[in-house]
Amino acid sequence: MTRNALSVDVEDYFHVSAFSRNISRSDWDGIPLRVDNNTRRLLALFDEFDTRATFFVLGWVAERLPDLIRDIAARGHEIASHGYSHQLVYNQSPDEFRAETLRSKRLLEDIVRQPVCGYRAASYSITARSQWALDTLVEAGFDYDSSIFPIHHDRYGMPGTPDHPYVLQTPNGKSLVEFPLSTARVLGYRLPVSGGGYFRIYPYALTRSGLAQVNRRQQPFIFYLHPWEIDPAQPRVSASRLSRFRHYHNLDKCESRLRRLLKDFRFGTVREVLQDLGLSARPGA
Ligand SMILES: [Zn+2]
Repeated sequence: MTRNALSVDVEDYFHVSAFSRNISRSDWDGIPLRVDNNTRRLLALFDEFDTRATFFVLGWVAERLPDLIRDIAARGHEIASHGYSHQLVYNQSPDEFRAETLRSKRLLEDIVRQPVCGYRAASYSITARSQWALDTLVEAGFDYDSSIFPIHHDRYGMPGTPDHPYVLQTPNGKSLVEFPLSTARVLGYRLPVSGGGYFRIYPYALTRSGLAQVNRRQQPFIFYLHPWEIDPAQPRVSASRLSRFRHYHNLDKCESRLRRLLKDFRFGTVREVLQDLGLSARPGA
C-alpha cells in the first residue's frame, strides 16, 4: 500500500487568509488561542492510528507555544515551516519574504534543535507571480516545498504544473523538490481532493475515490488539515458568505471523516514519502 503524506498547517482559526480583512494582525495577541488544544487532539488521534505527520507550523504560533512544538517533535512527527505571519507571498516584497522565512525557520530550529527542511506558504500563495520565492527557499536551506496547487482558484494555483512530487527548477536555475497539493483527474479537469475545505465540503466517498485514483497512478498523495477544522465550537467571525461557507461547512463532521481516512489509507511524514520516491536531498536527515 502506497505511503501518503499527512500534513497539518498549525495555525489558529483567526489566522486564515479569508478572515484577514475582518481580523487584523494587531488584534491577534488579544484573542484566546484554541490551536494548542486542537493540535493536541490531532496528536492523540494520530497516536491512536499509529500515524506520523508533517506539521507546517506558523512562526507566530511557535513563538507563543514552544512546548506544543516540542511535544509534536517528541512524538516522532516532522516539524516544517508555514512562514511567520501568514501573509500571502505575492503580497510581500522579496526582502520581506526573505526576512520572515528566515525568522520562522530559525525560530523552529531553536525550539526543536533539528534542521527544518520543509516549507508551505500561507494559502498556497506561491503562484506564477511569486515564483521568485522558490529561490529564497533554496537560499534559506529548505529541501522541499509544498505550496503549489496545480489548479485555478481565486487566491492560489498554478494550473498546468505537475500533479505529483518532482524536482522543479527555480527562476535562478536551482533545484528544489516540490510536493504539489494533490488532485484527481475528473472529466479532463483536476479536482482538488487533498484536504481542508475540500475535505469538509465534498462527500467523503468523493475524497476517497479521488485519493485512491492518485495511488492507482502509482503516486503518493498529500493530505492537509488545520487544527481549527476539528473544532466546531470555535468563535464565529463575520466575513463574506463564501468565506464563511468555506471555513465553517461541516466542521462537525471533520473529525469522524478524518478517522475514516486514517483507516482507509497509509500515511507518513512528507520527508518519509519523498524518501520513498528517492526525492529527498538529505536521506539521513
Ligand atoms: Zn495557513
